[in-house]
Amino acid sequence: MADVSPAAEALLAAFDETQLAEMHAAASARIKRVRALHREDYGGCAECTHESSVPFPCATIRALNGQEQPT
Ligand SMILES: [Zn+2]
Repeated sequence: MADVSPAAEALLAAFDETQLAEMHAAASARIKRVRALHREDYGGCAECTHESSVPFPCATIRALNGQEQPT
């Protein structure tokens, strides 16, 4: 787990495996709902596209994929 900082590792150590599994499942379900909203629709993002088309993957999906850094 190269993307976990020492501080995050210490925080995770405070939880037992069942709690971690529950937290992971809850977070995964939220990510799945975000991905369901930001789905590809005719080459654009179905959620972000309003008047002008936002190319897919949009910034939200790129952030979920670890390809976008917050500015
Ligand atoms: Zn989007």
